[in-house]
Amino acid sequence: MVSEQLESRGIRDERVLDAMRRVPREEFVRQSTRRNAYEDHPLPIDEGQTISQPYIVALTLQAAQLAETDCVLDVGTGSGYAAAVAAELAGRVISIERHPELAAAAESVLKRLGCDRVTVIVGDGTLGYPDLAPFDAIVAAAAGPRIPAPWVHQLAVGGRIVMPIGDSRFGQALTRATKSSDGALRRENLGAVAFVPLIGEYGVSDRS
Ligand code: SAM
Repeated sequence: MVSEQLESRGIRDERVLDAMRRVPREEFVRQSTRRNAYEDHPLPIDEGQTISQPYIVALTLQAAQLAETDCVLDVGTGSGYAAAVAAELAGRVISIERHPELAAAAESVLKRLGCDRVTVIVGDGTLGYPDLAPFDAIVAAAAGPRIPAPWVHQLAVGGRIVMPIGDSRFGQALTRATKSSDGALRRENLGAVAFVPLIGEYGVSDRS
C-alpha cells in the first residue's frame, strides 16, 4: 500500500509513511472487508459512512504538517483509522463523530490497539471543541461549503485546517488554510476530492 498507493502519488513525508505502515487498517474495517483493507479505495462502515481511501488519509495528514507535540482536532472519526494514524504523528488527538454508534466502535478499536493519545467525542464537529482549544491542526474527513467559523477561533496562530470544501459530492477541493499572526487564513487548494457531507450547525443541514 505505502509504495504503490502513497509514495508513487507523491506522499513524501517519511513520518506519515511510517505511520501508515504502523497502523493496521484491517482492524478498522468490517470483518467482511478485512481482505480488502489495503485496497486503493474507501470501504463501507456502519451508518452509511466510509473509511477513507488510504491515499486521502496520508495526503490530509501530510498537509496538516503535524509535529509530535501538536494537539489535533479530527472531525469525522468514522472507523477511527485516521485518528490512529494522526496519533502516531501528534501529541494528542481529539476526534469527534456525530454518530454515537460509530464513535463507540472506534473508541473500542482504538483502546484495543493501545491508541491512548486519541480521545473520541460524540457531537457536532462543526462546533469544534472549545474546551481543549487552541488546536495546532484541525483535519476533517467530511466536506462542507466553507470553513466553520468556530474552527478559525479555535486554531492556534500558525495552525493548519485541512478540509474538503465544496457543496456537492463532486465539486470539492481539499483545502489547507494556515492561520497567520493577524488571524487571517492563507488558503491553498490541494486538489479535487469526493467526501461525504459535513453535517452540522456550521456545515450542511441534516435532511435525512
Ligand atoms: N476519518 C474516518 C476514518 O478514518 O474512518 C473517515 C470518516 S467518514 C469519510 C466521515 C465521517 O464524518 C462520518 O463518520 C460522518 O458521520 C462524520 N461526520 C459528518 N459530519 C460530522 C460532524 N459535523 N461532526 C462529526 N462527525 C461528522
